[in-house]
Amino acid sequence: MPKLAARVGRAKPSAIMQIFDKAKQLQAQGRDVVSFSIGVPNFLPGEHVYQAVRDALEHDSGSYGSNRGDVRLLDAFLGHMEGLGLTGYARENCAVAVGAKHILYNLFEAILDEGDEVAFPTPYWTSYVDIAEIVGAKIKLLPCPPEQDYKMTPAQLDEALASKPALFLFNNPSNPTGMVYTKDEIAALADVLVKHPDTWVITDDIYNKMVFDDVGYHNFINARPELRDRVIFVDSLSKTYGMPGWRVGLMAGPESIAKAVVTLNSNHITNIPEIVTAGAVAALSGPQDVPESKCVEFQAKRDQVVGMFRSIPGVECPMPQGAFYVFPDISCAFGKSHSGRAINNDVDLCDALLEAKGVACVPGSAFGEPRALRVSYTCPTAQLADGLERIRSFFAELQ
Ligand code: PMP
Repeated sequence: MPKLAARVGRAKPSAIMQIFDKAKQLQAQGRDVVSFSIGVPNFLPGEHVYQAVRDALEHDSGSYGSNRGDVRLLDAFLGHMEGLGLTGYARENCAVAVGAKHILYNLFEAILDEGDEVAFPTPYWTSYVDIAEIVGAKIKLLPCPPEQDYKMTPAQLDEALASKPALFLFNNPSNPTGMVYTKDEIAALADVLVKHPDTWVITDDIYNKMVFDDVGYHNFINARPELRDRVIFVDSLSKTYGMPGWRVGLMAGPESIAKAVVTLNSNHITNIPEIVTAGAVAALSGPQDVPESKCVEFQAKRDQVVGMFRSIPGVECPMPQGAFYVFPDISCAFGKSHSGRAINNDVDLCDALLEAKGVACVPGSAFGEPRALRVSYTCPTAQLADGLERIRSFFAELQ
């Protein structure tokens, strides 16, 4: 057999998809399964987005598009960024790709030579590890346990950056924890970043419109404008606009890094589809009532999920203030059993919960925190209440 490249072996199949597939198998056998596993928003964009696509079909150019992204999309993104307080950027600072995942892949390729170090906090979004492995980077993890609300401290960051990693990767609001850094916390971390000029910073902020409790969305660039030369802001339409399948990711940063992404785009994809671009422009620059109303709905659902977990003796559940995930510490269940099945770790617990109660959650070890599990709570309200009741009864039945 001809050989496969080593980089393919280094990337692991997604643990989230494994549990999703198991849930699908049970459903195919006629089981009633509540899925809290995959991070899909479960809503559609507004009618104006579909109308923009219909109009674009009428005027299709039949040609290739720009490697950087259509100017209308770049301008809509610049307007959206201004709404987040990120001003003073131009089209030359931006680039578009096939989802934030692809933007991150481009950025890793642009920044990291083989053997270079990338540092990021744990719990992390699973793909950070896999993309780093594919490009051959060394990973430095900064453990942020539930006792510190899964948040990184300035001292931790300072220590991690002492070895001058090529890249520091930050995610706010966080997938999988839902944690959001306050204005003061961001300012304190930004002060540390200023002290370490040899490190690029990516801030993956794709849930920036899903922030609760008036905490607000804050960014290193606003805290310390001199960081603008090194900080790269990453965004996506997937979660906040209900458009995960449209595959639109965006970035803004120094011109040099945006240009590198454009060069990679020109070799990987040429451009994102023109028809998708029309929908993306409408989503970013049109009425914002869909993301705004969903944010209100998610905050109420967050309260329901956290309330249930906090009612279980022994479970610790930090309060997330954004995205649509809850990440409770369920390690109190380890060493117990359910229906004669031993529960020694998070994977055992998720397997037993799925088989006994038909509820799919993702083991925390997929995100580097084996004491937790991730609940993605975007499903309809009635299903949410049903799923939470099943989880409550599962924990009550542990022996
Ligand atoms: N970053 C984070 C933190 C995510 O949760 C996700 C999607 N799960 C992505 C990036 C990738 O998003 P996209 O759909 O735009 O590729």
